[in-house]
This record gives sequence, C-alpha cells and structure tokens, in this order.
Amino acid sequence: MNVYDSSRISGMLKKEGYEETLKQADADIVLFNTCHIREKAAEKLFSDLGRAHLIQLEREEQGKSTIIGVAGCVVQAEDEQIIKRAPYVNFAVGPLMYHKIARILRDIEAKKIRESVVETDFPADSKFDFLPENKSQGACSYLAVQEGCNNFCTYCVVPYTRGAEYSRPVAEVIKEAERLVKTGTIELNLLGQNVNSYHGEDESGKERDFAYLIERVAKIDGLKRLRYTTSYPADVTDNLIACHRDIKILMPYLHLPIQSGSDKILKAMNRRHDSASYLKVIEKLRKANPDIGMSSDFIVGFPGETDEDFKATLDVVNEVKYIQAFSFKYSRRPGTPAAVMDNQVEEKVKKERLAILQDLLFDYQTKFNQSCIGKIMPVLLEQKGRHKGQLIGRTPYMQNLHVSTNDDNINKIVEVQVTEATTNSLSGKEIL
Ligand code: SAH
Ligand code: SF4
Repeated sequence: MNVYDSSRISGMLKKEGYEETLKQADADIVLFNTCHIREKAAEKLFSDLGRAHLIQLEREEQGKSTIIGVAGCVVQAEDEQIIKRAPYVNFAVGPLMYHKIARILRDIEAKKIRESVVETDFPADSKFDFLPENKSQGACSYLAVQEGCNNFCTYCVVPYTRGAEYSRPVAEVIKEAERLVKTGTIELNLLGQNVNSYHGEDESGKERDFAYLIERVAKIDGLKRLRYTTSYPADVTDNLIACHRDIKILMPYLHLPIQSGSDKILKAMNRRHDSASYLKVIEKLRKANPDIGMSSDFIVGFPGETDEDFKATLDVVNEVKYIQAFSFKYSRRPGTPAAVMDNQVEEKVKKERLAILQDLLFDYQTKFNQSCIGKIMPVLLEQKGRHKGQLIGRTPYMQNLHVSTNDDNINKIVEVQVTEATTNSLSGKEIL
C-alpha cells in the first residue's frame, strides 16, 4: 500500500512540474512515506530524518534550501509529536491527506506558510477524488480499491492510522485499471488492507462485493495477470473462491494471513476466524483450483501465547505447506488493546519462536521452489539482472526468477523452464 501511495504522490508532484531524484544531496524536497505497523518501522523514520537534516544543513551552507516532509501512518499516530521530535520537518501529512502535499509545497515555496504544517484529519471526501490520473509504473502496477479497516485486531494500528473501511466505487476502479493497462500494465495487483471486504457501489448505485469487482477487472482487454492482496480469511466468500476456478488471469497464489494457529490466541487477537474455518477456506480454494499456492502472515509471542499455542501455529504451517510467508515478533503498539495486556511474552521467547517458525516456513518454501525444477512457467520479466544478458521476473507464484534472454523481453511474459532453485529465487532457460 505504501509503494502504491508513494507512486500516487510522485505522480501528483510530477504533474506539478517536480522531477524525481534519487540522490538526497540534489533534492530540494525530501519526502518520507512511513509505516507504523511495527515499532521497528516507525523508529527507522527518526534515524532517516536525522540523516536528512544533516544534508539539509550542508545544503544550507551552499545557499540551497531543502523542504523535508513526512507522509503516512507514523504521522497519523505521532501527530504534532513529529515536529516536536524533529523541528526541522516542514510538513507532515497522514495517509488520508496526502493529496494536499502539492498545495502545501506551493504555499511553503511561496513563503505563505513559515511554520511547520501537520495535517491528520480523516476527511469525509476520498483523497482519490483529488489526485491526478494514475499511470502505469511498469508492467506490474498496484491499484488501491479499498482502504482502512473496521476489524480492530487487538495488536494492530491500522484502524487508527488508516481510519474506517472505505471502498472506491466500481466505475472509478475500472477507469483507473483501464488507464493502467493502456499505459503498459499487464499485471495488476488490487490492493486493500482487507481487499476482499470490498463493498463499493456500481454504476447504478448498487453495492457490489469483491468477486464482482474481480470479474469486471478481469474483462479488461490487454490485462494478462491479476492478483489481490491482502485478504481477510472470514471475508473469503464462495463467489470469490469461484473466481479462482473460473478466471484464468487470476494468478494461482493467495496471501491469506492467519496470524496464529491457536484458537485461544485468535480470540484474544479479536480475529473473526478460528483455525478450522481458515483451513476450510483453503480446502475450498484448493478444490476450485488445485494449483493454488498459499502465503500468510504470522505473529509470534502475542500476549498469553504458550508453547502449546505456538505449536498450534506450527501445526497449521505443516498442514497448509505455505509456499511463502511473512512472520513477525509481536510488537507492542501504543493505543492498541494488546499493548496493555498483562501477560506479555518475553523478548527471548519471541526470538526463539520466530527462529523456529521461520526455519519451518523456509523449509516449505525451499521445497516448493525445488518442486518447480523442470517445469515450464510463464515469467513476467520486470528488470535487468546483475549479469549482462540476464533479466529478472516473477512467476505466477511470485517467485523471483533469473533468466538469460534478450533485453527486449523486459515487460513481457516469456516461457521459461526452471533449472535451479534456492529458498529465495529460481533460475531457468528461455523456451524459444
Ligand atoms: N489486514 C491484514 C494485515 C495488515 S497488517 C490482515 O488482517 O491479515 C500486515 C501484517 O503485519 C499483519 O498481517 C500482521 O501479521 C503484522 N502485524 C500487524 N500488527 C502487528 C504487531 N503489532 N506486531 C507484529 N506484527 C504485526
Ligand atoms: Fe489490522 Fe488486518 Fe486486523 Fe485490520 S484486519 S486490524 S488491518 S490486522
């Protein structure tokens, strides 16, 4: 979501006449887009800001001014505190206010405002109504269809930083998707904090579900691959499962976070699913498309998690055999109910459990990658590799694959036979 937001911000600024530079010393404006999901992500901002400040001071000695801005969820959570901690920050905008950045910059440059600006409202109007048209960033593009969350899992900041769930109208999504395809996108990833909780209005004002949206997007001429992320297990409907059977361009890969295999912990997390209902969804998905590969997020060391609870998580992993996964130590987030639960798990235990879980997950990931050896896969080539004549692309299962091929094949889908596999990537040879 942050990558998508950043590209929308940069699209808006380019339209205003700004140019992108990746060298901070050349930048008249430095903008950080931030994540607040875990403590580590949030802390990183302040060390990055410190470095940007040093460059700001160096440039000042050369007579150049630098505007420093911060966007995203850290702003929403910290609000004015950001300016207190880093007074050299010129402006800070929350994730629902980033459409204001162009205006704020103009005002700062025209010296209409001299004090630091902080914008953290949850506006009634959608920011998407105020952003310029979005163009393809390459062969793969993201498209946000839903934002915010009403689930209030007890560990999570998203409902507080991104606000209440909002679904963009169907027509608006289709228009953006068509424009992306026209400007070079062949793989589209529909985004939302809980993308499958989508309930946007169609052209006649009728509320539609996510399966309907997928069907509409899949019909766009020229679109070759479709994905969506992230899904909430309790909102996977039978209609959505049927999409995995019927829609050929829907990739056979699904990120469906369970967080924990223990029903006691899932309850304490305020998730609306238990491990049995989660496994049932996967069973149905596999019936609809036997080739589907599963991925998940896991949190270890949630307050009250015992060895037995942790074992239940390992049991789910052994049952599902994920082809990829993300796992994290529980991070205490200020303002969330779990942060003040009195049965916090020791850091040492969290660390041990994470290592055990990751070993197991990597094992399954490696096994899956190795099972691909000999197979012919369609690979969307996205960028140049480290070696001359080598391109890197993505398989339907999101695996990175290296292949020696003509540079002209960049942004195209080519057939590749897999010859080698490690935990993190595949290599193969092009089938001519
Ligand atoms: N809406 C999605 C997840 C969005 S947040 C869902 O419910 O599945 C992305 C991931 O960050 C979560 O799946 C969770 O695994 C992790 N996460 C969120 N808050 C966390 C916390 N306080 N500590 C550790 N991991 C966390
Ligand atoms: Fe956070 Fe996802 Fe739970 Fe919403 S459903 S509160 S985004 S973990």
